Amino acid sequence: MAAPGLRPGLGRLFEMPAALGRVRRAYGTSQAFAEVLRLPKKQLTKLVFPLQELERHLVPDSKHEFHLKIFDPSLEDIARAESIFTATAQNRIEYLSSAERLDHAPALPRPEVCFIGRSNVGKSSLIKALFSLAPDVEVRVSKKPGHTKKMNFFKVGKYFTLVDMPGYGYRAPEDFVDMVETYLKERKNLMRTFLLVDSVVGIQKTDNIAVEMCEEFALPYVMVLTKIDKSSKGHLLKQVLQIQKFVDTKTQGCFPQLFPVSAVTYSGIHLLRCFIADITGNLKTHCFQFS
Ligand code: GDP
Repeated sequence: MAAPGLRPGLGRLFEMPAALGRVRRAYGTSQAFAEVLRLPKKQLTKLVFPLQELERHLVPDSKHEFHLKIFDPSLEDIARAESIFTATAQNRIEYLSSAERLDHAPALPRPEVCFIGRSNVGKSSLIKALFSLAPDVEVRVSKKPGHTKKMNFFKVGKYFTLVDMPGYGYRAPEDFVDMVETYLKERKNLMRTFLLVDSVVGIQKTDNIAVEMCEEFALPYVMVLTKIDKSSKGHLLKQVLQIQKFVDTKTQGCFPQLFPVSAVTYSGIHLLRCFIADITGNLKTHCFQFS
């Protein structure tokens, strides 16, 4: 029997050491993820399912506050997503082009996801971490706030396009609104917007620009909480609870489950890759209660 409270996929895997071999054989699991699968249970949970790890520190009465089961892939699903993000001769992952306006954006048929967030929220670092299995991809990290003024398009094999949007906050909203609003409103193949919030400081006034925009255009979006390695567990839990409450009470289009990540420890990165692969129609995990 699986340990109480352990997600079914995870429980099965820990019971049967042979299952590890199966995941690797069946999905050609990358070396990096094969190493993740060898981690002790607690470390694996912390790395792959950081929200679940945080939930353990909640008092029993408030356990329902995190919506952990909405996107609840198995490790097999996550392994499949890793292969989508792994660059090979057949699966080319590369920077395509940049654009200052939507009418300069490349016309691409594939599903698209975009990443938006305040300058310094950790957007470049997160995109770099997502592309760590494609080390040749160059993600420019700007040192000056507000420096990224263009939308940068990255192709992920035959699967989808990832768009890095300019940061907002400093010297925005003018730049941000002009360029980004049109993109968000009119880009036909945009499947999901990932809105980054710094987990150390929580939702700031400037973050509301992006929230309001997503809400106004009725876009489906997801909140990603960056830099989770920086805070104590207590502080992080407090922030996550506050942000969860905001999402539950103040938003319509935001996906209810939060995605905490760290570009330093890679916590949450595998799960986010799996979510992106799934919502762009490339995995079909059937994990969603709704999408
Ligand atoms: P951007 O302006 O949103 O692209 O932000 P960057 O990715 O350039 O990150 C801003 C600063 O935060 C840099 O000093 C990064 O090293 C730091 N940073 C980004 N992500 C993380 C993270 O996950 N953990 C920690 N500790 N620092 C981070």
